[in-house]
Amino acid sequence: MAQGAPHVWRPYCQMKTARPPLPVARTEGVRIVLEDGRSLIDGIASWWTACHGYNHPHIRQAIVRQLEAAPHVMFGGLAHAPAYRLAARLAAMLPGELDHVFFAESGSVSVEIAMKMALQYWINRGIRGRTRFLSFAGGYHGDTLATMTVCDPEEGMHSLFAGVMPGQHIAPLPRDAASEAALEAVLERHGGEIAAMLVEPRVQGAGGMLFHDDAVLARLRRLADAHDVLLIFDEIFTGFGRTGDLFACQGSGVTPDIVTLSKALTGGTLPLSAAVASRKVFEAFWSDDPGAALMHGPTYMANPLACAAANASLDLFEAGAWKPDVARINRGLAEGLAPCRDLPGVTDVRTLGAIGVVEFDAPVDVSGLCARFAAEGVWIRPMGKVVYLTPPLVIGDDDLAILTGAVVRVLKA
Ligand SMILES: *Cc1c(COP(=O)(O)O)cnc(C)c1O
Repeated sequence: MAQGAPHVWRPYCQMKTARPPLPVARTEGVRIVLEDGRSLIDGIASWWTACHGYNHPHIRQAIVRQLEAAPHVMFGGLAHAPAYRLAARLAAMLPGELDHVFFAESGSVSVEIAMKMALQYWINRGIRGRTRFLSFAGGYHGDTLATMTVCDPEEGMHSLFAGVMPGQHIAPLPRDAASEAALEAVLERHGGEIAAMLVEPRVQGAGGMLFHDDAVLARLRRLADAHDVLLIFDEIFTGFGRTGDLFACQGSGVTPDIVTLSKALTGGTLPLSAAVASRKVFEAFWSDDPGAALMHGPTYMANPLACAAANASLDLFEAGAWKPDVARINRGLAEGLAPCRDLPGVTDVRTLGAIGVVEFDAPVDVSGLCARFAAEGVWIRPMGKVVYLTPPLVIGDDDLAILTGAVVRVLKA
């Protein structure tokens, strides 16, 4: 496999100095099997996608069946049952009037579409000047140019590009009365130019697995309504059970105007994302004027294989085992990671749903730790200052104990 390696430009990677990646031969359940025969328990579910584990037979069969019928058709002027069925099911699962599903193929693109929907919502209503966004310190919404502008500007990954795109308002999350008042002041001054606020509800994922409680979301809803600004929840990470509820918006009782979904949408099998708009947003586009239409249409949007996979994944969520599983995993993570509290440099150990986090006072050596974890038989890729676990929701107690044991052992050494 190393034969083609010089031709592949890898993600987030200094190609000159990086260790070579681990060559994968196959996957099964919660395991990644390497070409040299080693088998690693996946502690992060391939960037939070493989919620039912790998190669789940129900999802695999759905994809094979769809592959025989129609692997792909363009979505302009054509449609298909897997997309209709998936859209109807997502609308039924999401709270309130989040009923209008626009499909794309990646998380970043769905955030771009949500931002575009928000901008055009105001234009279509004849209100000018709503051209900017308000987002939050610690946030992450993607790597494309527009999504970079609503990520935490200090976070480092995108700081090279400061000034390339128009700046947005970035505020601290309203965690208490003082920060709520500060946010209110920003909205009082700048509300007239803000199209929408964007937030990852409950957990800011890539920004460092930072948790906040549902009261923060209730404050955002209240402020969005008071200042007539749209509210976008980016549930690309939190969606599909990860925080203990199917969606943070449904569990928190706070309904946004637009929600974005991706990552676990297809159970970790195929790329697919969605920006789901409320009736209020959709109605601003409902017109006899062709110019009021949403002018967007990714080539592979609503890919039938991906929609079939997502429908199969939703079948598994509907079967319901995920909910007690998340509670069980939460207990295993809390118990298993607790010994990390006493390690030098550790500032916090926290869990929420099927997320376990060990935070350090400084950035960790990502590739060195990855190699040491792999030597322990686990696949864990830390991020910034955090070593975290977000295992597949089907992981058994024994495998979970191997994961947490490896974290404790490696971080101790
Ligand atoms: C991963 C992620 C994205 C970006 O999704 P891609 O599919 O990598 O483009 C956006 N928002 C959140 C919250 C994410 O976790």
